[in-house]
Amino acid sequence: VLKYSPFVVSFHKHYYPWVQLSGHAGNFQAGEDGRILKRFCQCEQRSLELLMGDPLRPFVPAYYGMVQRDGQAFNQMEDLLADFEGPSIMDCKMGSRTYLEEELVKARERPKPRKDMYEKMVAVDPGAPTPEEHAQGAVTKPRYMQWRETLSSTSTLGFRIEGVKKADGTCNTNFKKTQALEQVTKVLEDFVNGDLGILRKYVARLEDLRETLENSPFFKTHEVVGSSLLFVHDHTGLAKVWMIDFGKTVALPDHQMLSHRLPWTEGNREDGYLWGLDNLICLLQGLAQS
Ligand code: ATP
Ligand code: MG
Ligand code: MG
Repeated sequence: VLKYSPFVVSFHKHYYPWVQLSGHAGNFQAGEDGRILKRFCQCEQRSLELLMGDPLRPFVPAYYGMVQRDGQAFNQMEDLLADFEGPSIMDCKMGSRTYLEEELVKARERPKPRKDMYEKMVAVDPGAPTPEEHAQGAVTKPRYMQWRETLSSTSTLGFRIEGVKKADGTCNTNFKKTQALEQVTKVLEDFVNGDLGILRKYVARLEDLRETLENSPFFKTHEVVGSSLLFVHDHTGLAKVWMIDFGKTVALPDHQMLSHRLPWTEGNREDGYLWGLDNLICLLQGLAQS
């Protein structure tokens, strides 16, 4: 658990260990009261600034600008855990693709054979490389990127669970190969301990979010990749969801807009965000009715 609690934060003179479910442990620091610092990223700053003036504002952490600490730059934002008592937390990475189109293009520029990526591939699935790739003992980066997406529910459901930490202290961030609908459903059910009240609050909040996304000028005009929904609830019955992580959220070129539901074909930049959200809501609604 220690690995996921890089520091202790205070809020209204109340101290609690902060929890980080994904990313590098060194990327976050405690900020001022009720705030955290995330390693600076220009792209994320731009998105957070625009989101502060968009209908989506209630669904993203409040942004307090860039700050310097020990010669390093950070984005300062609201700590979404601050209002909870011993929260259970889940990070769901949204969308049917977790790399940007421009990353794929770049990876292709000099598609040199990569032994390290071949080895990672074989470690997960020795049958994944083609006979030629086996013979070379290497795969190219774009090939590796596209293969990796097929392991989780990213390609089949339009979202994947990145990590869960429950109030009882149990923590799981090893869902890279969790793909089957039944497996994903089980993780969601276990996360809420089958609590129907909590489930219904999550569903209501997600339905609100969906409606707001459908009317958001920001969302229409951005490719939203690698962004997560952060679910947080506690024993008092408080349950909320926010959008986080805008490091790979980029503006589309002149007046282009996305449906966020159409399938991705290279060049159309569709990210599958709303398709994934539809699926997630459906799953949770199913659980809330059972
Ligand atoms: P990656 O790109 O690998 O997902 P990252 O460095 O971009 O990682 P984030 O995804 O933004 O980092 O955040 C990592 C984790 O930190 C989240 O899963 C969540 O547990 C926590 N976290 C991030 N932002 C907040 C916030 N505003 N309030 C509370 N917790 C947060
Ligand atoms: Mg993230
Ligand atoms: Mg990120």
